[in-house]
Amino acid sequence: MFVREMSREECQGVVAAGDLARLACCRGGQPYIVPITYAHSGKAFYFFSMPGQKIDWMRSNPKVSLQISEFASNRRWKSVVVTGTYRELPAQGCGNERLHAWSLLQKKANWWEPGGLKPVPQEISGASAHIFFCVEMDEMTGRAACAGEQ
Ligand SMILES: Cc1cc2nc3c(=O)[nH]c(=O)nc-3n(C[C@H](O)[C@H](O)[C@H](O)COP(=O)(O)OP(=O)(O)OC[C@H]3O[C@@H](n4cnc5c(N)ncnc54)[C@H](O)[C@@H]3O)c2cc1C
Repeated sequence: MFVREMSREECQGVVAAGDLARLACCRGGQPYIVPITYAHSGKAFYFFSMPGQKIDWMRSNPKVSLQISEFASNRRWKSVVVTGTYRELPAQGCGNERLHAWSLLQKKANWWEPGGLKPVPQEISGASAHIFFCVEMDEMTGRAACAGEQ
């Protein structure tokens, strides 16, 4: 097996084919990572969520990382790492981009359910708690493992 760098086009292929990212954020020196469904357009990754720890943390420190992979076997995989910046898409003042995020996400199967459900009942409030947010990509790198020798 050998590991090689992936081209930007190959990285974009993995991102375009995928639905699930690991989203890492950090507050007070403590990293936090969760799996999350994404949609992608140009330099923007779009997400849907309810309020909670990751949203609180990204509001206080908007620098985040994403990891997206294609895993065929221990010896054949592709992994893309994106660094970027969290930006919320509020219902007021962000109309078109929020709608764009929704229109891309709703093409994914079961896109809202994992982000819309919590293990404990949530307080019912007058305002919609649904959050759409974007990670604006700064950098993207990729590595691939292949069977055989280089
Ligand atoms: C396949 C898949 C797709 C998902 N898609 C989405 C999505 O599109 N949008 C979305 O918001 N969420 C999605 N989730 C759920 C996501 O991983 C988080 O569990 C969820 O967003 C709650 O995160 P939070 O920071 O708001 O946690 P909170 O509800 O605030 O809870 C924080 C506490 O719960 C623990 N915790 C939270 N999530 C997890 C977890 N996944 N595993 C173990 N411990 C956890 C934390 O360590 C912390 O102690 C998806 C999960 C999976 C497996």
